[in-house]
Amino acid sequence: MQAQPEASHFVDGRYLEDAAGAVMESRYPATDAVIARLHAATPAVIEAALAAAARAQADWAAWKPVERGRVLLRAAALLRERNAELAELETLDTGKPISETLVADAASGADCLEFFGGLAAALTGEAIPLGAGDFAYTLREPLGVCVGIGAWNYPIQIACWKAAPALACGNAMVFKPSELTPLTALRLAAVLVEAGAPPGVFSVVQGAGDVGAALVADARVAKVSLTGSVETGRKVYAAAAAGLKPATMELGGKSPLIVFDDADLEDAVGGAMLGNFYSAGQVCSNGTRVFVQKGIRARFLARLAARTRAIRLGDPLDADTQMGPLISAGQRDRVLGYIDGALAEGARLLTGGRAWGNAGWFVEPTVFDGVTDAMKVAREEVFGPVMSVLGFSEEDEVVARANATPFGLAAGVFTRDIARAHRVVARLQAGTCWINSYNLTPVEMPFGGVKASGFGRENGRAAVEAWSRLKAVHVGMGPVDAPF
Ligand code: NDP
Repeated sequence: MQAQPEASHFVDGRYLEDAAGAVMESRYPATDAVIARLHAATPAVIEAALAAAARAQADWAAWKPVERGRVLLRAAALLRERNAELAELETLDTGKPISETLVADAASGADCLEFFGGLAAALTGEAIPLGAGDFAYTLREPLGVCVGIGAWNYPIQIACWKAAPALACGNAMVFKPSELTPLTALRLAAVLVEAGAPPGVFSVVQGAGDVGAALVADARVAKVSLTGSVETGRKVYAAAAAGLKPATMELGGKSPLIVFDDADLEDAVGGAMLGNFYSAGQVCSNGTRVFVQKGIRARFLARLAARTRAIRLGDPLDADTQMGPLISAGQRDRVLGYIDGALAEGARLLTGGRAWGNAGWFVEPTVFDGVTDAMKVAREEVFGPVMSVLGFSEEDEVVARANATPFGLAAGVFTRDIARAHRVVARLQAGTCWINSYNLTPVEMPFGGVKASGFGRENGRAAVEAWSRLKAVHVGMGPVDAPF
């Protein structure tokens, strides 16, 4: 397949090139082959995108909401029609296996466009009676020109999760993908125009952190939404704060997944594997601290080891492959560094632990048992296929240990005791929780973190709050009672 896009950027309704920008190479992580050469956005490209967004936004906001929604619904249908092609492109750009990208990337992006396309015409304010005939009402208004900045693990999904609610609410967006995965957001931009979005309503500009920083700092920008690491989140939030701009921060995590003695064994093992090995472990909400109660621990470890050893690594374009490489050599080395660190701190390697294959950035799915709360592998986000199993005895103990982290993105509980499931979830400091499931993120459900994992919610009706504001209007129906 031809991965090279027509041009590096998509601005004001068309592909745009500026060869003066620094060269960016996109590489297939399974072989390190260069699949596309692009240029980072120059100040002229950034200006063109922001000027087009500012110009387009007022007109877009004045469209009938049902017509804005129709554009998103058409875009959803186009993504679905082209899912196979988009999946292949996402696999080349990220190294994620085609068995995942066919179901989890453009497909979930289409769900999101559909959800917010349907919601667009149902966004209303409220009437507030005040007595004696007086009343107030609220108007839900768009924010204006918004900036979205994405991470490299779910490129088109992240672009859709930001663009769909932003556009449904009447905003325009300039989106910057990760420099490691620049390709599929361009396709989304082209699809939106094909679906009828006016030029400039959704533009994509490429580049590294400096391009993101330039967008965030621009006075025309009313809102910033970042998916990325905590470290980047601090910088972007500070820059947004300098301009008093609202921000949504979808950041990293070190989420707990708690398995009680009475859990269904196969479901709990399956949940832990989904929560650690999908996308080669490069998922922000992964349950990387797996707390297993002492009565089920031996059986859990035996099944976990057997099922983990059976995971098929290989060519991500092969439909039978279950796990691909990590995104880059640097990420592979980082993950191997955490594995070495865990061994040095005395964790017991149950399976995996090494780089895999002759090419690309593969790491074996790795499970450590006997991990303690103090070990680095249990405290820091690894962002790779490394699961830490920790033992526990009592409910109170495990809740306290699960919460003893600066992060708070997600958490999971496996138990057949319905009262305990809800009691424990209520005590966990996390923005998104799963009971007897893990890492499912249907668009209907709000997603986001607490503590250092960020704030604001994507998806669900809750996302409307992130992309609109309320204007309150008081209406006096009687004489004005002035004390002067
Ligand atoms: P980074 O934080 O490195 O980068 C995220 C994005 O921010 C990239 O596009 C990056 O550009 C950009 N960026 C970097 N510096 C700045 C800056 N100063 N101003 C504006 N933009 C900037 O994250 P990764 O791409 O490495 O992604 C992995 C991280 O993302 C993990 O921590 C993971 O947990 C988190 N994540 C969170 C999710 C969530 O929903 N909570 C979902 C997915 C991932 P570039 O990299 O191109 O230089």
